[in-house]
Amino acid sequence: MSVAGATERASVRFLADEMLGRLARYLRFVGFDTAYARGMPDDEILRWSAGESRVLLTRDRRLAGRSPSTLLLTSGDIIEQFRRVRAAYPDLPFGLTFDRCTLCNGTLVPVDISRDSVATEAVPEAVRASGVGLFRCTACGHVYWEGSHTRAIRERLASWST
Ligand SMILES: [Zn+2]
Repeated sequence: MSVAGATERASVRFLADEMLGRLARYLRFVGFDTAYARGMPDDEILRWSAGESRVLLTRDRRLAGRSPSTLLLTSGDIIEQFRRVRAAYPDLPFGLTFDRCTLCNGTLVPVDISRDSVATEAVPEAVRASGVGLFRCTACGHVYWEGSHTRAIRERLASWST
């Protein structure tokens, strides 16, 4: 979660194909800019990936063969997929961050609850009272905070590290 880590993470961007929606969410959990190509023809996926210099993540061998920058994921298992991506970027951090919206890949910014009434309304009183940091997606407006859900994800990610 260091500044250096965030900068390095910004050096790689992904485009996950339709079969890798779950992996896309996990890559967003750990702060990677990960677009998701849902219901899109192959040619369009390739144009998107090339146009935005995104590494194409796919389980489709033929599609992978047509992209100059791709990571072919042969396993259907989320843990194996995540480990494969992590192994391809051994120098980058893969811990939970609050950088990316897992729903839409938008950027998260800290919320000032004394000024942001819209974000505040989305948050239960008990959470606000607890003083945990809140983050809002600049694209879709979804509000995030540290809680039981993020704890579970953090533990899952840690267990995948072994
Ligand atoms: Zn969002």
